Amino acid sequence: MLALTVQPGTPNSIDLTTVPEPPKSDGDVLVKALALGVCGTDREIIRGEYGAAPPGAERLILGHESLGRVEEAPAGSGFKAGDLVAGIVRRPDPVPCPACAAGVWDMCRNGQYTERGIKERNGYGSEYFRVEADFLIKLDPSLGMLGVLMEPTSIVAKAWEHVRRIGERAPAWRPHIALVTGAGPVGLLAALIGAQMGLEMHVLDRNNHGPKPKLVAALGATFHTKLDDTPCPDIVIECTGAPALIVDVFGRTAPDGIVCLAGVSSGGRKFPLDIGDLNRSMVLENRVVFGSVNANRDHYAAAADALAKADRDWLAGVITRRVPLKSWREAFKPQEDDIKVVVEFAA
Ligand code: BGC
Repeated sequence: MLALTVQPGTPNSIDLTTVPEPPKSDGDVLVKALALGVCGTDREIIRGEYGAAPPGAERLILGHESLGRVEEAPAGSGFKAGDLVAGIVRRPDPVPCPACAAGVWDMCRNGQYTERGIKERNGYGSEYFRVEADFLIKLDPSLGMLGVLMEPTSIVAKAWEHVRRIGERAPAWRPHIALVTGAGPVGLLAALIGAQMGLEMHVLDRNNHGPKPKLVAALGATFHTKLDDTPCPDIVIECTGAPALIVDVFGRTAPDGIVCLAGVSSGGRKFPLDIGDLNRSMVLENRVVFGSVNANRDHYAAAADALAKADRDWLAGVITRRVPLKSWREAFKPQEDDIKVVVEFAA
């Protein structure tokens, strides 16, 4: 079968290669790939800056934003042929650490977790893949191709769940205004969930052409290009990873405010930051800044609900390019006004 593979650590080694059928050791459920979402992590892996092949292998099958249809599933697995599904990315570390032992692999304590398509486990970018039934999520069949947004939605479902848990440290916590920075796929999906929660949503992005402003407006949210124009938020979901913006959002929340950092920055750029001032404002106003990565099964379940409830035209608007597998290279060349780009494996 065909698969998108890379040699981690070697820049631009991505290719469409022939690989063996997925091994039974990957899981009991055989899935035919329909689509694969492309994200910043994939581009980092392609640049040779991130990712690791499975032990003993040179190449890694890329792809962690999966969508497929079950081809074969054992009786009692909870799946049947034809189910629309997405695979979970992370697998618990083998020790396991207390977090992984409790099924909370997104909070792994020892870093020995593996991730499909990213870290030491082949991904979902192949015509067929296998998954353990416990690491597969069923999607509302009416989502069709839009189900490819499942994995990035799970990331923001986790971010929101942790915001809620932190907020509830104060029994009278009643957030009203939330700001999402960055109107890429993660930011837009974060805004979708915030809007579903009934919050007054504001979304900041420097790019006000293309489809982003309309997508934000369609959520009943307000689009901004300048941080100074945004109201003082109770919650910030930071999705850009842009250092200058991160510094600016730190001091901007209301008292008891929560900033969730969900965008990954590359290091190397230094910005002046008055730590004393930051400390003072965080202590004197109970502010929290925390990071959030990955997602566990509960977050995928929450994401499946959020997608099922979402307007289908809106979700379709987030997917700005669908590239057939035979033209796969196009999917990895960023174009202006791209939001989510998807490689189509099958109809
Ligand atoms: C994926 C996460 C993963 C993270 C770090 C992200 O792109 O969505 O599932 O944990 O990269 O590898």
